Amino acid sequence: MIPQNNTVITYSISVKKLRYFRQKMEKSKEDHLSPNFQIDANPEKKNYKLEIVWRNVVIFAILHSLFLYWLYLIITFQIKFTSFVFCIFYAVLTVFGVTAGAHRLWTHKSYKANLPVRIFLMLCQSGALQNHIYEWARDHRVHHKFADTDADPHNINRGFFFAHIGWLMCKKHPDVINKGKTIDMSDLLKDPVVVFQKKHYIPLVLIFNLVLPTYFLHSILGETLWTAFVCNIGRYVFSLNGTWFVNSAAHVWGNKPYEINIKAVECFRLSWLMIGEGWHNYHHVFPWDYKAAELPIYKHNLTVCILDLMAKAGWVTDLKTVPEEIIRKRAMRTGDKSWKYSGNNVMSSVNNEDVQNDTKEHTWGWGDKDMSEYEMAAVKILNRHHE
Ligand SMILES: [Zn+2]
Ligand SMILES: [Zn+2]
Repeated sequence: MIPQNNTVITYSISVKKLRYFRQKMEKSKEDHLSPNFQIDANPEKKNYKLEIVWRNVVIFAILHSLFLYWLYLIITFQIKFTSFVFCIFYAVLTVFGVTAGAHRLWTHKSYKANLPVRIFLMLCQSGALQNHIYEWARDHRVHHKFADTDADPHNINRGFFFAHIGWLMCKKHPDVINKGKTIDMSDLLKDPVVVFQKKHYIPLVLIFNLVLPTYFLHSILGETLWTAFVCNIGRYVFSLNGTWFVNSAAHVWGNKPYEINIKAVECFRLSWLMIGEGWHNYHHVFPWDYKAAELPIYKHNLTVCILDLMAKAGWVTDLKTVPEEIIRKRAMRTGDKSWKYSGNNVMSSVNNEDVQNDTKEHTWGWGDKDMSEYEMAAVKILNRHHE
C-alpha cells in the first residue's frame, strides 16, 4: 500500500510508472509489427518490369473523355435535372452494392445477410462494373493482408496515380499473384449468389450497368439515346473514381488515430462520397467491423444507416463491431495521438497484456487465421441470429 499522505513517494512512483509505460509504448511499437508491416518503398528496384496493358489505357481514356463531356452537359444545362438526379441515385445504389456487398459482406464477412438481400446486393454490384464479387473480394483481401507491399494490388508506395487507377492499366506484380494464392476464398465459392454472378457476369453487367439505366434515361426521362448513353457512362465513371479514391486518397490525406505504422488514414470527406468508406485507418486495423468506422455517425456512413434498418427488419444478422475498450487501448498505444480521447489521462491502462492481445498481422477480416483469439472472443455481435 502507498501511504496516501506521502506525496514524495507517490510522486516518485508515478514518475517510475510513467517511465515504465513510456518504455512499454516504445517497445510495443517495435514489437507490434510483423514483417508484413514493412513498407516496400521501391518496388521497381527488384527485377520487376512494369508492363502496361494498352487496351485498358485506351478504354479508360475513352470513358474519362465521356465523363468530361457529361460534366460539360451538366454545367451547360443540356441534360434534364431529373436525369442528373437519377444518375446520382443510380451511382449511390451501385456503390451500395460495393460497400455493403462486395466489401463489408463478402470480403470482410462483417455480417450475414439473407438470400434476397444477397441477391439485391449482387445485382447492385453488377451495375457498378468493378469485376465480379469473387475477384473484387480476392483483390481486396490481398490488399488488406499485404497492405503497403508489392503484394498489395494498389500499393500506395508506388504513388497516388498507381493506387488510384494505374494498377488497372498494367500487369499485376508477381507478388500480388503469388501471395494472393495464399488467401482463403473458399467461403465465397460456397455462396450460390457469388457463384451465379461469376458464371453470368457479362449478361448481368450488360443489363444492370448499361441497358437498364440507359433505357430509363432515354425512354422514361426523355433524353436522346446518345445523351442517355453519355449520362450513364458519366454516372459509371463518377462511381468508379469514388471507389478508387479509397485506394488512393484514403492512404494519403488524413490522420492515423489507431495505427501509425500503416499508410491507411481517416479521410473524413471521402466518407460522404463513398457512403461511409473513408474511415480507412480504423478499417485496416479492425476490418471485421461492419461499420468500417469507429463512430456510428449516420450522416457520414449511409451504408451503416441502411444496414441498421435491414437489421431491424431481420434481413441482416450477426453484425460485428469492436468494443470501445479494445479500440481505446489500441489507439492509445499505436495511434498518432489524434484519437478523440487522446490527451486524457488514460495512458496508465496500457500494459503488456494488451500488447499480447493485439492482432499482430494484417488481417483481411472475420475468419482470418491471424486474428488474435482475444479480439475474436471480445467482438460485439449485434442482432445475433440463433440457429
Ligand atoms: Zn476493406
Ligand atoms: Zn486500404
